[in-house]
Amino acid sequence: MISRRRLLATVIALPLSRLAHAQPTCGEMTPRETEGPFFKTNTPQRITLIEPGSKAPKLVVSGQVLTVNCRPIKGAMLDFWHADEEGDYDNRGYRYRGHQFTDADGRYRLETIVPAVYPGRTRHIHVKVQPPGGRVLTTQLYFPNQPGNKRDGLFRDDLVMRMPDRSRGAFDFVVA
Ligand code: FE
Repeated sequence: MISRRRLLATVIALPLSRLAHAQPTCGEMTPRETEGPFFKTNTPQRITLIEPGSKAPKLVVSGQVLTVNCRPIKGAMLDFWHADEEGDYDNRGYRYRGHQFTDADGRYRLETIVPAVYPGRTRHIHVKVQPPGGRVLTTQLYFPNQPGNKRDGLFRDDLVMRMPDRSRGAFDFVVA
């Protein structure tokens, strides 16, 4: 016959382990980073930032926007901006600037070019992520194995994209 003490232990342990399984965590919240001097509002809504005739290497960045409990966030806005193939930002127009919204599975897909590096920074892409009605997360994405990563004070390992090759980057944002 099962002892009263063991029975009690089982009754207490079960709900706790269930609770732990019911709330998986998608890891830490995506860290914030400075917006920098080149952000512009009112960007066009578009998936692709590739300019017609551009010979720069192409890059597709994709992933999901998730809650801390790993639930995909539908309709989250992502606003991307980055330097062009010369390392310059377009401060007059909207080249290499654009926003989009996640689909029903919280997914996004950005088609663009590999931004050139510019003095003082390692290679990066700026982004603002905002869940519907939620707070804006401003951050930056980095590329693996860049010589400039070690020298850039803003660089963070936890903002590096997974890149199976030079033309594909993957990154999931975890937001409040
Ligand atoms: Fe920048």
